[in-house]
Amino acid sequence: MSVALITGGSRGIGRVIAENLAKAGYDIAVCFSGNEDAAQETITECKKHGVQAMYIKANVSNAEDVSNMFDEIKSMLGPVEILVNNAGITKDGLLIRMSEEDFDSVVDINLKGTFLCSKAAIKDMMKARKGRIINITSIVGVEGNPGQANYCASKAGIIGFTKSVAKEYGGKGITVNAVAPGFIQTAMTDKLPENVKEAYLKQIPLGRFGQPEDIANVVEFLASDKAAYVTGQVIEVTGGM
Ligand code: NAP
Repeated sequence: MSVALITGGSRGIGRVIAENLAKAGYDIAVCFSGNEDAAQETITECKKHGVQAMYIKANVSNAEDVSNMFDEIKSMLGPVEILVNNAGITKDGLLIRMSEEDFDSVVDINLKGTFLCSKAAIKDMMKARKGRIINITSIVGVEGNPGQANYCASKAGIIGFTKSVAKEYGGKGITVNAVAPGFIQTAMTDKLPENVKEAYLKQIPLGRFGQPEDIANVVEFLASDKAAYVTGQVIEVTGGM
């Protein structure tokens, strides 16, 4: 059975990606940073599909945590074949008020976390001459967004990272793609003020906010053999926003 690691798979989009990949028959590992109960719930749901599943507490921006996480997954389930770099945070604010700490923590978790996990995964993928790296970026990494200079910079960085790594490892049978969600209903967007949500909704031609399933379906496609000839791409899943 192939092993899929979904970082930040305890809640939100990551949880639904994990459940979807479990349903498709992959053994599942998820990592989380603080909310163990949520991670346990994800794993319980995944196991209902008859696959093996485990969770690990690991901060993706910490190299030692990431190295230990990959060792643990390998010993419990086997080498990671599908890596979904999904863990992410926001710390919004206008540039003039943005602290150095708020800039660094967002870039460290979103972008450096993607780098550390991809680097940790690539050796075994090369050995297997098979692998999928799927990075969750954002439409605002393409378009920019006021109040999110740190977040947009991290997500734009993920796009450059994706395209570069795709070029480096295509010859080894490894594909690397990014998914750029628009507005998806999760804890991350629930905290936005109502007037901001209404303004976003007006910009969505399909007339509704996205759901985690909308992202998970595209991730499942990219993980599958059907996407064997797709690499270095950014797939926007935004309802046309
Ligand atoms: P969410 O509901 O806030 O969930 C975030 C997940 O990331 C949680 O599982 C959290 O774990 C984990 N996480 C946070 N910091 C971590 C760290 N340092 N190490 C390991 N795990 C960590 O967010 P979401 O809305 O599902 O977003 C998932 C991804 O989609 C993010 O990369 C986000 O930027 C991207 N995205 C979301 C939207 C949207 O509209 N929601 C739009 C575009 C892109 P804990 O439970 O332990 O905190």
